[in-house]
Amino acid sequence: MALILLNLFMIAHIIQWWVMGRTVSPIEPSETMYTLQKGFVNAGFIFFTLAILVTLIFGRYICGWGCHILALQDFCGWLLKKMGLHPKPFRSRLLIYVPLIGALYMFVWPVVYRLFSEPHEPLIPKFTNHLVTTNFWQTFPSVAVAIPFLFVCGFMTVYFLGQKGFCTYACPYGGFFGLADKLSPGKIRVTPACNQCGHCTATCTSNVLVHAEVKQYGMVVDPGCMKCMDCVSVCPNDALYFGFGKPSILVPKTDAIKRNYSLTWPEEIIGVLVFFGSFLAVRGVYALVPFLMALGCATVTTFLTLKLWRLLRAKELSFYRFNLKSSGTIRKAGWAFAAFACAWIGLNAHCGWVRYHEFLGNRAFQKIKLPDELALAQANPARWLSPADRENILGGKEYYQAASSVGLFVNSEVLPKLAWFEYLLGDAKQSVQTLGDAAAHQSGESKALSLYYRGAILNRLGRYEEAQASLDQALAERDDLILARQEKGESLWQLGRREEAISVWTDAVERNARLVLVNNELAGAKRLSGKLEEAAAHEKQADQFTPNDPFYHWILARRLQDLGMAELADKHFQQAGDLDTDKGGPQLR
Ligand code: SF4
Ligand code: SF4
Repeated sequence: MALILLNLFMIAHIIQWWVMGRTVSPIEPSETMYTLQKGFVNAGFIFFTLAILVTLIFGRYICGWGCHILALQDFCGWLLKKMGLHPKPFRSRLLIYVPLIGALYMFVWPVVYRLFSEPHEPLIPKFTNHLVTTNFWQTFPSVAVAIPFLFVCGFMTVYFLGQKGFCTYACPYGGFFGLADKLSPGKIRVTPACNQCGHCTATCTSNVLVHAEVKQYGMVVDPGCMKCMDCVSVCPNDALYFGFGKPSILVPKTDAIKRNYSLTWPEEIIGVLVFFGSFLAVRGVYALVPFLMALGCATVTTFLTLKLWRLLRAKELSFYRFNLKSSGTIRKAGWAFAAFACAWIGLNAHCGWVRYHEFLGNRAFQKIKLPDELALAQANPARWLSPADRENILGGKEYYQAASSVGLFVNSEVLPKLAWFEYLLGDAKQSVQTLGDAAAHQSGESKALSLYYRGAILNRLGRYEEAQASLDQALAERDDLILARQEKGESLWQLGRREEAISVWTDAVERNARLVLVNNELAGAKRLSGKLEEAAAHEKQADQFTPNDPFYHWILARRLQDLGMAELADKHFQQAGDLDTDKGGPQLR
């Protein structure tokens, strides 16, 4: 009932946002990352903090009573049982550390990274209020990704790894809840009425050896226990109860309970390698697979690889009620399993190949140091690239093209970067085309940025009408994209619609009075229309915020020259030259 109510509450939350346009930010632990990285205090952070504090007292309750993925796993387990299939727990000694490593990576690594980053960022970011949002879905994957995400994490992990497969081997929140559970006094405890019948262990879907633990320790010490109370309700002698006492961390572990594991030690090591290989291959591939889904995929890949390995080596092998191999002969079900496993592993390997090329392309992109404003000052930025820069960009372009030529999906994050490579290499026309393709696959801010860059490059190419249309689309996505306003003013000016251009630029400086180029453009426009006082005021305002940098003056000069504002352009060319007399004057002209 609790899990059904939880799902209904989630649906109500989304409907309320749809209807009213504003709502409480997602009550989802992953939102805590934005608090740690950007200082956004949101509902997810408050929920996760309170949940850990509650776990420190009552134990790992939240997983069993308040997790929608667990609800999905329970639903899947129920469906499988209806079909006569009872999910069998997969027991690994090493992979159980994945959730904790995942939690450290998600929540601790960003802080450590900031501590050692250059230049030093403050360890504690400036906190801002993000408790209410108008863009509820901003940090979630699209529905097209969410459905396979839920299928992999809620269904496939249950089928292959047992009813709590995702919780045990993937969920990073569980990593922290499990740690807090070891410290909590709230535990499933036993009375002397227990006669070791084992019903509790048979009922527990969290793979806890309840009868053995209560016999040895007087309580359940396994941090995988989610306090679902199934064992309590099933005990024929009413011997179990939830109660407070010594936390499990204080229990001496000298006579640890012997467990049966699904893997031999060599298989454990191969499993870890396969897990991390698969995780790296799928995480972020095509800019589609989020962290949790990558963990879920990696657990499934690990299981399938190890099972396939056994299918090849063992004489007898079964899976659920299916006989995969008997007397050394692979049966029909075995071939079907092998075909599925090979397809899944092959898909993983393919993702790995694409991801590797995307990674190398991204690395080349990060190496570009040429500022956008300088590159966009004129249609061909080739003069600013050293031979090493050119080589790096050519290499990066090839990596991106290799990834997209065999990719199964379009990577909407790679396309704008590929377009930038094309622009820097002098192919502005192709860059415009690629940015258009990128925008067609994007939404929100990223779409607005692609359309803005497209508009800016079209302006440099003299295709002003197309530029204006692109910039209008960018502003329709993000009205606050002030650079798009400035570029739109340039398109209108070049099209001879000067009053409209002045109005757009005026709107831009009303939003941000420190815009240097726009103030210069307004100064030039007013000068040309004889309004000298207004022109002087804009020029003064611009000069006040102009950096003392020869390249900055050169950029201003180039842009003003293109707009026919020759006087102001000459002034900035002169200042560029004066500021850098060695290489300035002639080079920056
Ligand atoms: S079901 Fe009850 S009696 Fe049976 S082993 Fe578990 S705690 Fe003991
Ligand atoms: S059945 Fe008992 S031991 Fe298993 S998760 Fe539920 S409460 Fe914990």
